[in-house]
Amino acid sequence: MSAEVNPDLIVDLKKFGVKSASACFNCGNCTAICSLSSESTPFPRKVIRYLQLGLKDKLMESPEPWLCYYCGDCSETCPRQADPGEVMMGLRRYLTSMYDWTGISRLFYTSTVFEVFSILLVAALVGLGFYTFHGPMLTDRVALNVFAPNTTIEILDLIMLGVLSFLLLTNAYRMFRAVMGDPAQYPELTPFEKQQFQNRIIRGIPAPLFISEAKEFVVHFLTQKKFIACGTASQRMQWFNHLLIMTGYSTVFLLVVVGLRWFQRDEIYALWHPVRLLGYYATFAILYGTTIAIVGRIKRSKTVYAHSHSSDWAFLVLLWLTTFSGILIHGTRMLEMPLTTYYLYVIHLMIAVPMLVIEVPFAKWTHQLYRPLIVYLMNVKKRAMARA
Ligand code: SF4
Ligand code: SF4
Repeated sequence: MSAEVNPDLIVDLKKFGVKSASACFNCGNCTAICSLSSESTPFPRKVIRYLQLGLKDKLMESPEPWLCYYCGDCSETCPRQADPGEVMMGLRRYLTSMYDWTGISRLFYTSTVFEVFSILLVAALVGLGFYTFHGPMLTDRVALNVFAPNTTIEILDLIMLGVLSFLLLTNAYRMFRAVMGDPAQYPELTPFEKQQFQNRIIRGIPAPLFISEAKEFVVHFLTQKKFIACGTASQRMQWFNHLLIMTGYSTVFLLVVVGLRWFQRDEIYALWHPVRLLGYYATFAILYGTTIAIVGRIKRSKTVYAHSHSSDWAFLVLLWLTTFSGILIHGTRMLEMPLTTYYLYVIHLMIAVPMLVIEVPFAKWTHQLYRPLIVYLMNVKKRAMARA
């Protein structure tokens, strides 16, 4: 199987934040030190070599960038300051844009102007929607469900969920095709076995294998537990912080998309009510996690915070502002300030909607799906190989 060489690949990757890869002289120190690298999926040296050689197709087929949790160990010990951890991060951005069939992800990652413009455009559309269609603004009490009925918002939420799921799942399917279809990753197979293997992968591994390994996907999706294997106390804190952010926004996503009729009520729940407690947990988890990450990136306090792509800032800042404006709404409701609550509600959605519409299918959030998906697919592949 021949591989096409793309001499412009390394130049193209610079737009995604891969700036130091040409310094690598392939000593392999990073692969030796990486606690997540394995014999079957060694990294990061191998994929750095692919990009140096312009092997775009090989990169597309590589699961390794998604198996890296960016602990930074390899970057700290690279004798050439090639920053392999950051190279893997940039590769994840690049691959996300390659899986995305709409081309929006590429624009988002390679143009700060497009990124800012798209966020402002979605925010303006949300604002315009409220300006045109909002309900009566009662001032004798806070009546959020008269101003913006939860039944209407719920329908819009479900439409948004459908569109985002479609985009995300079709992109995930392209990832599946890319990483599952290439038997060339297994040099020990004969050409005939490779052909057979490829046919079986492309026509579909037996469904029971996908089903029996599905628990791996769920476990890794919920815990990102490979991160813990990175080792030091500081790295475990990084995992914990990541987990707080992930569980926080997953909770709030469920509350506002699936459970809005219980979450957006005009009466204020008692302190012990499960919906209120879940709201408080999500608020605390996101605010704490994003504040730690924002401060870390400003101070560049760790190797993993040394470089910040504009998409990193967009994700963190939008998430922080969404949470903070949510706290303000809660406060003005408690203080019975109707008009302020309505205006804050619109501002809150003008921040939250762009974050969901852009981040979930096209940007940073995709890691949340792609990482556990790759862990799961690698397990399925290993089982398939064992049967071959
Ligand atoms: S990135 Fe650094 S440690 Fe890794 S192979 Fe290249 S030079 Fe060696
Ligand atoms: S950043 Fe950590 S997990 Fe990623 S390749 Fe380097 S050592 Fe491995």
